[in-house]
Amino acid sequence: MAERIFTLDDLTGTRSVCGCLTCDLGAVFAHHLTALRTDYPGTVTTLGHRGASPGTTAVPHFLAVRLGDGLADVVVWEEMRPQQLTAWLPAADARARVPQLAARIPSLVRVRQALRAGTFTPSGAAGEALSTGGRYPSFRFLVEHWPTLKKEFTP
Ligand SMILES: [Zn+2]
Repeated sequence: MAERIFTLDDLTGTRSVCGCLTCDLGAVFAHHLTALRTDYPGTVTTLGHRGASPGTTAVPHFLAVRLGDGLADVVVWEEMRPQQLTAWLPAADARARVPQLAARIPSLVRVRQALRAGTFTPSGAAGEALSTGGRYPSFRFLVEHWPTLKKEFTP
């Protein structure tokens, strides 16, 4: 599945709690995720401006938003309870990397931009998943393939 490119027109009619651009994008993205996910327990909860509740994990998502001729990467945070995190990311080793990578947003944005620009092509399963169009560089993709990406990406 190709990455969805959001536009500011997608915000038409959106109402988030505070109404700022990030929260409105979060509301649109939560709707998008809810429609996409199967077998996800509970509802998609975005964090807005608050921190994750005790016992939950803050998971970033990258949204590609078209602004004029370019694409901007916007980060929206989702709060996941343990069973939600497991449903979303079944591999335990990848799950264990979530907090570490969630603290490295600028590095991940650089990887996304290099992949998009075609200046970085990872090898093996990561490269194959992207080249066949099966995956796009979502946070989940980055966390799943981080050992390869970290080794091969030169900022
Ligand atoms: Zn807001």
